[in-house]
Amino acid sequence: MRRQELAGNLEQVRERIVQACIAAGRRAEEVTLIAVTKTWPASDVAHLIALGLREFGESREQEGHAKCSDLIDLLSVTQPPVRWHFIGQVQRNKAARVGQWADVIHSIDRLEILEPLLRSGRALQGLIQVRLDEGGQAGSGQRGGVPPAEAEALADAVASAGIPVRGVMGVAPLGAPAAPAFARLRAVRDRIQRQHPEAHWISAGMSGDLEEAIYEGATHVRLGTSILGSRY
Ligand SMILES: *Cc1c(COP(=O)(O)O)cnc(C)c1O
Repeated sequence: MRRQELAGNLEQVRERIVQACIAAGRRAEEVTLIAVTKTWPASDVAHLIALGLREFGESREQEGHAKCSDLIDLLSVTQPPVRWHFIGQVQRNKAARVGQWADVIHSIDRLEILEPLLRSGRALQGLIQVRLDEGGQAGSGQRGGVPPAEAEALADAVASAGIPVRGVMGVAPLGAPAAPAFARLRAVRDRIQRQHPEAHWISAGMSGDLEEAIYEGATHVRLGTSILGSRY
């Protein structure tokens, strides 16, 4: 039953993505869907793997780590392989453990997490998380990220440390329109990409604002509620 429910939700959200791409004059293949499985059990990840998904997002180290362990047998035989995206704030004291299981770190926003992230020796890819509230001043907002003006310098440092920078990530500010925020994110991506040609990803858009994100160029949408249901 749960698998059918997830299949139905997936079909609906894929249709939303297709429609958003049509409205934006983009091709649906340009947008990668990441299923955000935080708070949901490993069995849901297994259902989604069976339904063909390979990109999963988690925002807490312990929870993501536990799911990877629970699913180790399935993950070891899944082809193409599953890719784990870490989308939550990386706490310094947990960064080394994040580096043991996550493949793409969306939420790089400061230097001090780089050395522990790399400690496991696994190949990681990184996105620079950019603060998207108006002005993007240091100290403003609670949704994390580096101020836009500091994003290029951070991208250079991340790449030098040995984490290839694939692009940027942002969360739309609460209580403000999403589209202008995503437009600012795209502008930061464009600047970073001048020095880092591989950094074309824009991870933006959640269940409530994926249309705005796709219109503003998102290459990766992070969807929890619209696939798995309400967490509350
Ligand atoms: C939870 C979460 C999402 C998914 O949000 P939904 O509204 O459930 O789609 C996306 N990005 C981040 C950073 C999150 O923490």
